[in-house]
Amino acid sequence: MFNLYPLFSSSSGNMYLIETEDTNILVDIGVTYKKVKDALNTLNKDTSDIDAIFITHEHSDHIKGLNMFIKNNPTIPIYASKGTSAYLKNSLINSKIEFNNIIELCEPKFINIKDLNITYFNISHDAIDPVGYKISHGDKSITIATDLGTITNDVYSYLEESSLPVIESNYDKNMLLAGKYPFEVKRRISGPYGHLSNEDSGQVILKLAQNGIRNFLLSHVSENNNVPDLAKETICSTLSLAGFNVNEFNINIASKDFSTEVYEL
Ligand SMILES: [Zn+2]
Ligand SMILES: [Zn+2]
Repeated sequence: MFNLYPLFSSSSGNMYLIETEDTNILVDIGVTYKKVKDALNTLNKDTSDIDAIFITHEHSDHIKGLNMFIKNNPTIPIYASKGTSAYLKNSLINSKIEFNNIIELCEPKFINIKDLNITYFNISHDAIDPVGYKISHGDKSITIATDLGTITNDVYSYLEESSLPVIESNYDKNMLLAGKYPFEVKRRISGPYGHLSNEDSGQVILKLAQNGIRNFLLSHVSENNNVPDLAKETICSTLSLAGFNVNEFNINIASKDFSTEVYEL
C-alpha cells in the first residue's frame, strides 16, 4: 500500500498525507490544527499516528497549523530546510512553545522514515529556503513540486523519476492579468520566484509525457486566478496539440477544500 491523500490544496491551505501499511507522513500543515485533527479523524487516524511532517516553506498556507501541532505533539519530528527550520524555531520562541523536534534537513539529501525514503530538492519561490520532496516506497514514488516560479533541470529530474508528479497549476495568465490583484502582486505571482501558470505546467507535463509519464496530479489551483476545469483544459490542449491522445492520461486536480480523495500507487 502506498497512498497519497491531497487533503487540502489551495492558496488558503495545503496538506498532503502519504500512507503505507507502517507509516504516515504529512507534507505541509497549512490549515488550522482543528482542521488537521478533523481531517485525520475522518481517515480513522489521530495526530499521534503521524511519524513525521515535512515542510516545504514558511508561507502560512503551508504551516498554519504547525505551532499548535508542536504544542500538542512535542515529540513528532518536523523536518524542514536549513533556512525554513531556523525561521520556524524563531517563531516558536516568540510563541513561547517548547520545541525539540524541528530537524534541519542536511546532506545527504535523503532520509528514511520507516518504509519511506524522502529526498528534498531546492525550488525557486519567494520564501526563505523552499524545497520540494520526492517520497519513495519500493519502486514507486511521488514528487511534490508546488509553489515554484520555474522548473529547473534539477526539479525536472525528480519529476521525471516519479510515478506520480504533483505539480502546481496555480493561475491562468489571462485571469491573473484581468484580475483585481495589485500590479506588484501580479508580477510576483508570474515571476521566476512565484507560481506556475496553467501554460507553464502544460509545458512541463508535455515534456514528462514525452518521457512516458501518464499520471499527473495538479495542485495549488488559485481560487482567484484560475478554475480547475480551465487548468485541466489548458494542459489537455497542450498535449493534444503535440499529438498525444489525452484519453491515455490520468490528469487529476487536487480539491481546494478538504477531500479524502486518494491516489493509490
Ligand atoms: Zn502556497
Ligand atoms: Zn508559497
